[in-house]
Amino acid sequence: MKFGKIVSGIENKRDEMVKLCCDLIGFRSENPPADVTDIAYFIRDYFRERGFKVSTYEPKKGKVNVSARLEKGEGKRLLWNGHVDVVPAGRRENWSTDPFVGVVRDGKIFGRGAADMKSGVAVAMVMASHLSEIDADFSGSIQLDFVPDEETGGNHGTKYLVERGISVGDACIVGEGTSSRTWGIAVRIAEKGILDLEISALGKTSHASVPFLGENAIDKLIKVLSIVKEMENREIELPPIVRKIIDQSMPYYERISKNYGLPVDIFRQLFSKMTVNVGVIKGGVKTNVVPDYAEAKVDIRLLPGQNPEMVYSEIEKKVHESGIRGIGLDKNVALPSYENPEGAFVSLVKRCVAEVTGAEQVNTIIGSGATDARYIRGLRGIPTVILGPGNQSSHSANEYVDIEDMVVMSKIYTLIALEFLF
Ligand SMILES: [Zn+2]
Repeated sequence: MKFGKIVSGIENKRDEMVKLCCDLIGFRSENPPADVTDIAYFIRDYFRERGFKVSTYEPKKGKVNVSARLEKGEGKRLLWNGHVDVVPAGRRENWSTDPFVGVVRDGKIFGRGAADMKSGVAVAMVMASHLSEIDADFSGSIQLDFVPDEETGGNHGTKYLVERGISVGDACIVGEGTSSRTWGIAVRIAEKGILDLEISALGKTSHASVPFLGENAIDKLIKVLSIVKEMENREIELPPIVRKIIDQSMPYYERISKNYGLPVDIFRQLFSKMTVNVGVIKGGVKTNVVPDYAEAKVDIRLLPGQNPEMVYSEIEKKVHESGIRGIGLDKNVALPSYENPEGAFVSLVKRCVAEVTGAEQVNTIIGSGATDARYIRGLRGIPTVILGPGNQSSHSANEYVDIEDMVVMSKIYTLIALEFLF
């Protein structure tokens, strides 16, 4: 390996990496309320001490973004992005450890955010610090953006940085977890988008014994929901390149299906159709009153290549044609996006993963969840991969990360940076 010594040198920082991850877990950055001031300042100080150029941005009180840059002359710019907020720990009885104390046991670190994604943050910090210490004459810059707000949409995090031209680069790694002891490291190069739909239905109250004097808003809402639910059966024409990404993802997902005892084609279905989840429904006051108001919130997942605005217009049209009156529709969109699997950056990343892990084949996959890549790739067109040490335990009780996954990822990150900037 060309940079073998530098890459394996990061092994010496194994203990530092573990301690750092535990320290990060110790900051309660639960979202909500998502005040990340303390963890952000901790990261800021880490990089200041190491001579990085550090800037902080706080678009809203407590939503502190940290951007740290290592610069060595002119050249390409590699961007790394990770979030420091975590989902709430939930019921403590479900945890065997304190979720806000990083506990090292059996080669793993336990705690909220261990997988999603304080391990990734720790690995990126150590990788950048390692590169700042070694005597390698790369040319260019590495910018690491540590953001809040990812678990609630990213408006005050990555979206803010991207829209203001702060998050810029020639390529980007979003460090969300894509590692697994069971089915190997995957490089995520595409992700589904979200069309969040808010539906309201207006009616007219009357006594339930003479319902014809009123207009039942819940009945109307149910009819509209069935129209929206029908979208799941709609055939979708995808760009050939997206089909290819999905095809290439299947061996990976088949392994997961088998592992969970699920039908083999369940993921093929997931990546060929939209999914519609009615997540919230409200309405009515009493059984003997015809309700005059009802509302629902629906999460529709779109495939890369689909246009959220067009899907929304289609729903509007169908609702209009149904003749149901008094319906209000509103939307919120997260863009689906994808990367060319043969693109230069994806190829470089695959090569680096293969070199470090010895894997003959590196999986490039599509993911069902949306990440901040939607802003970096979706809004700016920066070639972006999702690659990090976390696993499938994210968001659950007893969340953990394998320390070995962190060490392997630190080598991969180091190699990617060197290959990209030399
Ligand atoms: Zn995450």
